[in-house]
Amino acid sequence: MAQFARQIKALDLSVTGYCRSTYLPGATPAEFSANVEANRAALRDAATLGARCFVMVVGGMVPGSRDLAGARNQVLDGLSMLMDAAREYGVPLALEPLHPMYAANRAVVNTLAQALDICETVDPDRSGLIGVAVDVYHCWWDPELASSIAAAGKADRILAYHVCDWLYDTQDMLLDRGMMGDGVIDLPSVRSRVEGAGYDGLVETEIFSAQHWWQREPDEVLSICAERLQTVC
Ligand code: ZN
Repeated sequence: MAQFARQIKALDLSVTGYCRSTYLPGATPAEFSANVEANRAALRDAATLGARCFVMVVGGMVPGSRDLAGARNQVLDGLSMLMDAAREYGVPLALEPLHPMYAANRAVVNTLAQALDICETVDPDRSGLIGVAVDVYHCWWDPELASSIAAAGKADRILAYHVCDWLYDTQDMLLDRGMMGDGVIDLPSVRSRVEGAGYDGLVETEIFSAQHWWQREPDEVLSICAERLQTVC
């Protein structure tokens, strides 16, 4: 990790966010504790890398379980337990709500409003050590998006902004994200809300696309990303 940190520094790059966390919910108390510890260790790595935040994809339900509320409680407990580590390492936790289609197996935090409620619960004093990552792929559909972004900004909790696009006929729940401009998301509108709410960090492109973009030449993909960021975002 220290070697990566040196290379990043030597190239004058910055690490916007260290992504991602170990899923928090566990089938047993021992498993839950191990998950919290793994995240504590990852926070230390994030600090070594100089990451501006640690992206928390909180985890879904324990396999075989039907206890959604229980999984959400474990997430709340786990995040509370990680606040000390965030403080110790100086890396804030960026809670990333995921689209509800992932509630079973990736994240039981599914809207910005829900994520903000959690932030307020574990960090009522708004220490700056926990906030949200706004990813258009996960939250573009949310009827409360505008008000939630405004609320996140007001609480000074927007730590990251991720873009891609939602394809009209998306083919895969995980690996068919679209290039900005190819789908249905009104990207300029979301960005203006995010920036209007006070976010002045970088815009991160995040396109999981096994069949399309991952098959193309990386240099070509990067130049298309750069062009789209300038023209349609
Ligand atoms: Zn994201």
